[in-house]
Amino acid sequence: MINKVKGTYDILPEDSSKWQELEQVISNVSRIFNFKEIRTPIFEVSDLFHRGVGESTDIIKKETYDFKDRGGRLITLRPEGTASVVRSVIENKLYAQANQPLKLYYQGSMFRYERPQKGRYRQFRQFGAEALGSNSPLIDAEIINYASTILESLRIKDIIIKINSLGGSESKDIYKEKLVEYLKPNITGLCNDCQRRYEENPLRVLDCKIDRENPILVDAPKPLDYLNDEDRYHFDQVISALDAIQLKYVIDKNLVRGLDYYTNTVFEIDANVSTLGAQKTLVGGGRYNNLVKSLDGPETPAVGFAFGMERLLIAIEAVKQQTPKEFIHCYMIALGDNAQNEALKIVNELRHGGLICDYDFFNKNLKGKFKQSERLNPMFNLILGEDELAEQVINVKITKTGIQKRVPLNGLYQFLLNSIRNVSSDSCSGNCNSCDEC
Ligand code: AMP
Repeated sequence: MINKVKGTYDILPEDSSKWQELEQVISNVSRIFNFKEIRTPIFEVSDLFHRGVGESTDIIKKETYDFKDRGGRLITLRPEGTASVVRSVIENKLYAQANQPLKLYYQGSMFRYERPQKGRYRQFRQFGAEALGSNSPLIDAEIINYASTILESLRIKDIIIKINSLGGSESKDIYKEKLVEYLKPNITGLCNDCQRRYEENPLRVLDCKIDRENPILVDAPKPLDYLNDEDRYHFDQVISALDAIQLKYVIDKNLVRGLDYYTNTVFEIDANVSTLGAQKTLVGGGRYNNLVKSLDGPETPAVGFAFGMERLLIAIEAVKQQTPKEFIHCYMIALGDNAQNEALKIVNELRHGGLICDYDFFNKNLKGKFKQSERLNPMFNLILGEDELAEQVINVKITKTGIQKRVPLNGLYQFLLNSIRNVSSDSCSGNCNSCDEC
């Protein structure tokens, strides 16, 4: 029997619908942000990635699938999407189109020779986006908003947006010098990986997972403190745009990302999903103002991101497990003809107030009504008999706790809203529009 290659996996029929649903959300959100799809080949001449991704990166040093084709050309299976998109933009002169910035997205397989584990594969899929042609901080914020809206649409809410700035070439060079100067006498106090990175790509020392708490790294100079005025202004404007759209973020002064081409803004979004383990970064991205030029295109500022789609699916699965079964807000139980008419009126009012309400259409006995209520999973059973009607009150049973209260009819709606807030944080399926979560 021939088995699949290590680090690859089959998408079996029972799983393909999950992929289709994810692709559908990506395409819908991309549409509202007005990003258009681009599809590029899965292999390119090796030089594209060596120059584009950077010789000093882990990807190029040890992870690419390189081969010579039968014509003797050096070919590489793409390890990421940005270099290919930039190559295509240059080759097809898309940078000359009237509609700028170019807003493009892609999805497809990438290949990296990494140590496979959950959420890390040798053939994996990325969904990525690139906005080329504008240096406006607004487009940095747009890209971060786009990535975060994808997660919101997938109901992945427990996320952290981390953002930092490396500065443009000038700030980055000055900072690099400062960092190397600082690390030189201290470098033997850091791990082997850091020592290797110090030689090859000193910025990467900052995001070492092993020495994260090491005082040498904690006290190291940070890129954000070495931005020149222009870069500082750019970063402040990105932050102010994120504040304007009320997107929550944290400034992570150690965030540098693994690819060489980033300048200015860099960001990552982590999901708090235990099944992702150490692979909790769903998306990484940033600005890369020099890449187009370095690949022989015209000077073109750009910014983008890439999601790992397998990790998205793991996060979606975890969210589904946490989502309780469908629910309604109120199930009305009326006892007696007079109460019945009043009950209809109350249900109608509550529905107009946005609450999901239902009741018995089969004139079932009390036991039957409660049985139906169980199936509909209400947060409250509302019980109205002739006595209650006479007193203008109603019995409200909070199904989660079993507690029953007599509530004046004229205060019912407010009582329900308050109670929903109190009980809903772990009973809302995310669409009640009444609880704190929604
Ligand atoms: P990068 O292209 O390295 O910036 O990574 C962007 C995103 O792609 C990461 O945040 C992950 O979600 C995903 N990713 C990167 N490498 C892998 C891999 N080997 N397997 C699965 N997902 C990956």
